[in-house]
Amino acid sequence: MTIELRPVDRACPSCGADAPRDLGLGRSPWTIGACSPCGFAYLTAAASYSDLSDYYSWDKAILIEAKRRKSAQPLVQWLDQKTRWRLHLFPRPETRTFLEALVPGGKVVDIGCGSGKQGLALPDDYTPFGVEISRTLAEQAHAAFAERGGACQHAPSAGGLGKFEADTFDGAMLNSYLEYEAEPLPVLRALHRVLKPTGVAVVKVPNFASWNAAVMKRNWCGIRLPDHVNYFTPDSLREMAESAGFTVEFPKLTNLPTNDNFWAFLRPAAQA
Ligand SMILES: [Zn+2]
Repeated sequence: MTIELRPVDRACPSCGADAPRDLGLGRSPWTIGACSPCGFAYLTAAASYSDLSDYYSWDKAILIEAKRRKSAQPLVQWLDQKTRWRLHLFPRPETRTFLEALVPGGKVVDIGCGSGKQGLALPDDYTPFGVEISRTLAEQAHAAFAERGGACQHAPSAGGLGKFEADTFDGAMLNSYLEYEAEPLPVLRALHRVLKPTGVAVVKVPNFASWNAAVMKRNWCGIRLPDHVNYFTPDSLREMAESAGFTVEFPKLTNLPTNDNFWAFLRPAAQA
């Protein structure tokens, strides 16, 4: 199977500068750069939204990547599998359970909701909504959410969120999503508009500052080319979220450097 992509060049998605320094972690033709002014790590080109919508949506990409990894690096993958125990040293948190603890009920939007699994797993006190770029997944999610009074928009996230009224949502989930998003800052700004002033967004992304990322380098599980286009650290996520108008809190005990992912709670900053 051959994938033909029409990559679109990107400037730094956090500060807009176009001066990346090659981190040497990419694989031709993909380059992971660190922005010279702000340090944000990102893929310097990404698939276009139209490719993602109908052709190269990441539900397909995951299968292709799993196959490629198995054949390209059997030893590294074997080691990675064999050391999975390290994930079980500490209790494993979930985006959804964090949300349930922070938001007592109401309307919750899952950005990049896929087929809607996370939203549907929420108890009845919550009405699930979503935004999803893949047409087939968005249709599945919409049908399921509609049965609970919710809906899913098939659109790029910022545009999809734009279709909701301001101050609509009590909560939001960005579960393993923001690393795929070519334009994360506009999405966070759009989220800020639709989240109630009392709302909370729970974000989970791979932790580019993890020990595993430092040791495994280009073989780290958080590096997926060309699907993962942003490589967040807690600091760089905070910086981006703050410029979108949020305050950022990190759950204690879960964001350890031994974890390949980290979580963040985003709340609209109080107006001065
Ligand atoms: Zn930058």
